[in-house]
Amino acid sequence: MIFEHVQGDEARFEELLKRREAREPLSQILGERGFWEHDFIVNEHVLTPRPDSEVLIEEALKCLPNKEKPYRFLDLGTGSGCLILTLLHEFPNASAVAVDKSPEALAVANRNAQKLGFQNRVEFQQADWAESLTEGFDLVISNPPYIPMHSYEGLMPEVRDHEPIMALVGGEDGLEFYRTISAQAPAILQQGGWLIFEVGIGQTDQVAALAEQNGFDLHKIRKDYGGIERAVILQKR
Ligand code: GLN
Repeated sequence: MIFEHVQGDEARFEELLKRREAREPLSQILGERGFWEHDFIVNEHVLTPRPDSEVLIEEALKCLPNKEKPYRFLDLGTGSGCLILTLLHEFPNASAVAVDKSPEALAVANRNAQKLGFQNRVEFQQADWAESLTEGFDLVISNPPYIPMHSYEGLMPEVRDHEPIMALVGGEDGLEFYRTISAQAPAILQQGGWLIFEVGIGQTDQVAALAEQNGFDLHKIRKDYGGIERAVILQKR
């Protein structure tokens, strides 16, 4: 793809190469990253979509086998919008609310919704997680920040120096936002509704325990294609 951008333009290529040498991620240099079936606009205000997160979509498809139903989805910490917009692509009659604390991230998510033609099926809200919501959703999906504060400095420069810290760090132990969301989620899900979390390395048991304390049953733990336990799938009792 890079050749399309720079064909016949050596100076421009040099400039892009310098940015890469300074460890700017390729996704931000190109301005987009593929996820599932679409290219999503990305910049320094959102987490770059990662293939690991695609297992959350695969699990959502298993939790809700009837693709034609007019489900209501909620995405907490939507970032680029890659998770919720992919769900809207897979469930053509569904609609959604997508929340983020960052107005800059919501601007990117909005552009992605327009790009995919889903702007009428998703409502973006600037909020602190689910604080302002009351509706009973069918499924809540979230890839919250989960890096423990003490691990932040050790992240690779592409991530640490170029992706937003507020999309990465989940408090001292990395679990802060699982506590918040697990506590809020029962009030905004239908009975039997689904909660699908992405988690960091080694966090599955603690995240499952937190959700179980808040009225969820553990349905499944799912590995990513690198063999790391990456998603915790929970169902409201
Ligand atoms: N998966 C990201 C990383 O390892 C972190 C994403 C997150 O905190 N939700 O860099």
